[in-house]
Amino acid sequence: MTHDPVDITIIGGGPTGLFALFYAGMRGVKAQIVDALPQLGGQLTALYPEKYIFDVGGFPKVLAKDFVKGLTEQALQFRGATHLNETIMGLERREGLFVLQTEGGEFPSRAIVIAAGIGAFSPRRLPQVVAHPWYGRGIFDVVTDPEAFRGKRILILGGGDTAFDWAHQLLDRAATLTLVHRSDRFRAHAATVTEVQRAAAEGRMGLHTFHELHDILSVDGTLTGVVLRDTKTKATFALACDVVLPMLGYVSDLGALAQWGLTLEKEEIVVNSCMETGQPGIYAAGDVTTYPGKLKLIASGFGEAATAVNQAVHWIYPEKKVTPGHSSNMALFGQSPD
Ligand SMILES: Cc1cc2nc3c(=O)[nH]c(=O)nc-3n(C[C@H](O)[C@H](O)[C@H](O)COP(=O)(O)OP(=O)(O)OC[C@H]3O[C@@H](n4cnc5c(N)ncnc54)[C@H](O)[C@@H]3O)c2cc1C
Repeated sequence: MTHDPVDITIIGGGPTGLFALFYAGMRGVKAQIVDALPQLGGQLTALYPEKYIFDVGGFPKVLAKDFVKGLTEQALQFRGATHLNETIMGLERREGLFVLQTEGGEFPSRAIVIAAGIGAFSPRRLPQVVAHPWYGRGIFDVVTDPEAFRGKRILILGGGDTAFDWAHQLLDRAATLTLVHRSDRFRAHAATVTEVQRAAAEGRMGLHTFHELHDILSVDGTLTGVVLRDTKTKATFALACDVVLPMLGYVSDLGALAQWGLTLEKEEIVVNSCMETGQPGIYAAGDVTTYPGKLKLIASGFGEAATAVNQAVHWIYPEKKVTPGHSSNMALFGQSPD
């Protein structure tokens, strides 16, 4: 399917892309987001929806998923389209337009803002082939609604932040909870590790280091438990559980974007202070960019998104100024000039 041309296509619907969509709407140009994931919010939705963020302006403390809700509401007020489950694979130039290509279609536009973060990412799969048929029916590598696991016997696999955060957050909801890791070296935040270890010492949850998944146990097509194996002695034992949550981190890939002739440094796009990539009409913002002094923070992404969009607007329509003016004075929002 070939979509109608717009002024700006934003690759990525994380916080940077959402703010870019808002800004494009505020500048009166037509924009759209294309994202590989099934939902907006980028890393905040996919990796830490239930974590609090403390360092974004205006919110002393805000849950990542609530922050995305506000960003989405702000971004969608100008009715820019969001195309989800669409991974950008290719780029062609046709009749003065950039035509971005996904498996499902083509997205022509006059300019591009790349807000692709760490690239298209997906949870790292368990290496044990025996587990693969159980994904989506007993094994879940993304927790979108922790309430879905209330009263369940939960097994979490992993030793990083995601594994420990979910162990901590699901403990009170679970009938039983066990955390299993292949070694005794944890990559999670020290405070969370201490809390989980305390819960295990108090008998409120199980914690098995130097163990890994060996086999899946089931009855009539329902997962009923696992066999765990000691990584040192190779001894095995069965553990009853209803759900297995492999929290093994994410694999990310800039994919096709890396082939577009942009200047890259360690998988990041080099930009100047105007967020220009060196290819006229292609701008970048957020975690995907690098420049001297770059900070990979939500707050930085917002400033970069505003710069990228305002530059793109001026590039497409030279009669429109780069400087956007103040939203507090804009008739668009029902305000009158000072
Ligand atoms: C556990 C954790 C906690 C964090 N806590 C904080 C914090 O407290 N404060 C803070 O400021 N920052 C925090 N961060 C960092 C913050 O989340 C990132 O800086 C922010 O998400 C970057 O936003 P972004 O929009 O640039 O990229 P992302 O959020 O990575 O979004 C990029 C989007 O682009 C999409 N995409 C990529 N490639 C393609 C493609 N080829 N086609 C289509 N779509 C594509 C991806 O699917 C993704 O949705 C944290 C990060 C993690 C992992």
